[in-house]
Amino acid sequence: MLQSSTARRLASATLLFVAAAALQADAEQYYDAIFELRLEAGSDTATGSLTIDQSSRLLPEMALRMRQDQYRLLGADGETSNRDGRLYWEPGKGRSQLRYEVVLTQPRGEAFDGLVTSDWAIFRGDDLFPTTLVDDAVTAKSRSRLRLVLPEGWSAITPYRRDRKGEGKGDWLVDKPDFRFDRPTGWILAGRMGVRRDTIADVDIAIAAPVGARAQRVSMLALLRWNLPWFVEEAPEVPRRLLIVSGPDPLWRGGLSAPNSLFIHSDLALISEDGSSPLLHEVAHVLFPVDAADEEDWIDEGLAEYLSLRVLRETGTLSESRYQRSIRHFRKRGEQAKSLYSDDSKGEITAKAVAMLHDLDEELRAATAGEADMMDLTRLMMASEKPLTMARIRGLAKQLAGREPRSLPVVASQ
Ligand SMILES: [Zn+2]
Repeated sequence: MLQSSTARRLASATLLFVAAAALQADAEQYYDAIFELRLEAGSDTATGSLTIDQSSRLLPEMALRMRQDQYRLLGADGETSNRDGRLYWEPGKGRSQLRYEVVLTQPRGEAFDGLVTSDWAIFRGDDLFPTTLVDDAVTAKSRSRLRLVLPEGWSAITPYRRDRKGEGKGDWLVDKPDFRFDRPTGWILAGRMGVRRDTIADVDIAIAAPVGARAQRVSMLALLRWNLPWFVEEAPEVPRRLLIVSGPDPLWRGGLSAPNSLFIHSDLALISEDGSSPLLHEVAHVLFPVDAADEEDWIDEGLAEYLSLRVLRETGTLSESRYQRSIRHFRKRGEQAKSLYSDDSKGEITAKAVAMLHDLDEELRAATAGEADMMDLTRLMMASEKPLTMARIRGLAKQLAGREPRSLPVVASQ
């Protein structure tokens, strides 16, 4: 109890901070930022624009990262210049627009994690709206909207809330309280689609897939109904809504998470033969995000995979003996990994990490007479201000257990 009350105190401190920020909001100054994307059925490219509307020059300049193989600048109101591989843009007073062309197709190995067909398009906002950098001296905040202009007969779904009234009716409101400049980065599906919605543990869930894809929308909802409540109970912060986008080949045969949203290939099993769940793995990334240092991707991937097994065990979806069998399987597979360290943790490395985190869970319970476990450590990992390394996780585990953790290897101090 001791440790979980610490976690709760941390969570309520965050809430107080958010409340204080909300009180200040009245005094804050805002400018409008409108992200527009015009899609054409079957066309590999789309035209996009960013419009800044400001009564005074609250935002004098911004830098955009527009990779040359991805973006082509079509024009901009106000001054632009290129420095250090970035495009600097000075939107003037009033309404200024920057227009560009962007490639929708995003290859990932031999498959794609962004694709447009004649009937639908699936992509991440992060890939189609250039990364923006706003100087720290700019204290004004953006009021950001996403506007999609779609081919006849298409509809769209995004992780954002829709504006129901006024001039921008139909736009999505992109509001991230922690950011001064909000950019739509989550998953988006446009086209002819089927959507199933439900509210589970106060989270509004939408599962969307193109018409004709063999997406397991209702089964996914069922799996979430069993498992999401436990995740929500354990997570320090929970999004109000979660969008799951599913699609067929040639989309990437895996899962990928983004803020408040995730992609999952429609052919993937809900629970794999090894006992883990690709869907719950991605949900774990969304609800329990951690910032791993370079070359320490095992932390991010191992934790999400461990949590997907853990939740299935907690909810009785996997029996205890099947869970233990899964851990044995992961341990054996992990033996093939020579090292944990990589910037892209795959199969063996993630398996090694899963077995290690399971051992650490048992060690934490034993050391604290059941007062603390891997979930307490997960919350401490999430709260870490510095990118996580093995050495930092050892430090956090020691904080909980009161002694050096034996389940984690000793590494040279970093
Ligand atoms: Zn992952």
